[in-house]
Amino acid sequence: MPLRRCPCGTGLLLAECCGRLHDGSAGAATAEQLMRSRYSAFALGDVAYLLATWHPATRPRSLDLDQDVRWTGLEVLATTGGALLSAEGTVEFRAHYVGNGSSGAQHENSRFVRDGGQWRYLDGVSLS
Ligand SMILES: [Zn+2]
Repeated sequence: MPLRRCPCGTGLLLAECCGRLHDGSAGAATAEQLMRSRYSAFALGDVAYLLATWHPATRPRSLDLDQDVRWTGLEVLATTGGALLSAEGTVEFRAHYVGNGSSGAQHENSRFVRDGGQWRYLDGVSLS
């Protein structure tokens, strides 16, 4: 794997950051870590990881990523819960993109719950 910075913006190499979650060599300790790894998966087009980290109750059967959208940056704005010993948490974030002839940001408050010991994405509210 080439040396590249992680899309989630920590400044770490992908292989030392979200890449460890994507390849299964590490699990997300916090809801924010899972959120960051899912953002990176969107940026990298890793549909399998996105589905695998979706809570079974809300997981879509399949997921089509818009090939014209390129994710360009992530800001984590606020978190509640989601710590090492929490059962649930929320992460408010703004994800920037360019595509389809324009640029913009998705502003969302996502909910995460622990399922069988693993953090999973449950759902989100758009705040725009
Ligand atoms: Zn990362």
